[in-house]
Amino acid sequence: MGRGVLTQYAEFLPLTPVTPRITLGEGETPLVRSRQIERETGGEVYFKMEGCNPTGSFKDRGMVVAVAKAVEAGSQAIICASTGNTSASAAAFGARCGLRVIVLVPQGRIALGKLAQALVCGAQVIAIEGSFDQSLEVARGLSDRHPFTLVNSLNPYRLEGQKTAAFEVIEALGDAPDYLFIPVGNAGNITAYWRGFQEFHGREKSSRTPRMMGFQAEGSAPIVRGEPVADPHTVASAIRIGNPALWQGAVAAGNESGGGVGAVSDDEILEAYRLLASAEGIFCEPASAASVAGLLKSTRQGLSVAGKQIVCVITGTGLKDPDTAMSQAPEPTVIPPDLEQIEKAIIGTLGGSSWTRL
Ligand SMILES: *Cc1c(COP(=O)(O)O)cnc(C)c1O
Repeated sequence: MGRGVLTQYAEFLPLTPVTPRITLGEGETPLVRSRQIERETGGEVYFKMEGCNPTGSFKDRGMVVAVAKAVEAGSQAIICASTGNTSASAAAFGARCGLRVIVLVPQGRIALGKLAQALVCGAQVIAIEGSFDQSLEVARGLSDRHPFTLVNSLNPYRLEGQKTAAFEVIEALGDAPDYLFIPVGNAGNITAYWRGFQEFHGREKSSRTPRMMGFQAEGSAPIVRGEPVADPHTVASAIRIGNPALWQGAVAAGNESGGGVGAVSDDEILEAYRLLASAEGIFCEPASAASVAGLLKSTRQGLSVAGKQIVCVITGTGLKDPDTAMSQAPEPTVIPPDLEQIEKAIIGTLGGSSWTRL
């Protein structure tokens, strides 16, 4: 039964006896072994399935802590800027606790499923005619002027909750892996994983820390370029961020772990996205595929991972972004309800299979 992050990892979180132990069943996500992608890389590859969280992304791990602490502090309203998943998570946990939820999203730039989640949970959604970075600036300003608790990853409780994913990886493998590949947007998650790996290091089950391999999208890669990107662009909307709030955290995670932050192109992201779905049965969102794209790119460029344990973080489910999915897949075949015609379409007129893989 989903105990939730607050109960399961209470001793590692900044809780007090009166912090409400709320949960929607977040955490305890599966670590799934690769069947196909590991053949190409030669490593032992696992996927950390964060799309299995209640609102479909890892954001729930941090949000449950941030919202519990907001309730404990007597806050009546929470606010965030979001590329989508943070707002979906804030809306769900806020609704659960009877809080007012205000979310600022860059207009026209968030996936439909995420918008639907926030709206149906009753959040006040304001579409900003601008970027995510501008939305975050406004959200910060509003939380300074009003008693609204900011629940972006600038809220320190978010990272505390998110670090629990690293604990679970260690518990599932019996030790930390050699490498962790992870998408980087606002850089909260890579910062949180690194903290989690460090906190467990030296304890019973953790004899080492992984190399942290963060990946931004090429058109939205401020950390790789070394300067903010004014007009970030990528198909991976969850990492379309030009000035990451946790920039230094990502740099530190890369440097201290012997890893680093790199970039993958949209073509590489979409290749990994299709491959994950068609060869592994894992339908993730485009941003999540940046981790696997990073792994494939690194090994193709000569990184040898033979015999190494690798975890790729699959940050969110593909169901939220049907537009990207449909743009990457063939149209369904339309046929009248006639057995022979359908049979012909299935078997193909040339005798061979007419099935096309993505
Ligand atoms: C938020 C998010 C990211 C990026 O995480 P950061 O903490 O902003 O670096 C990646 N993938 C998905 C699906 C997300 O929702």
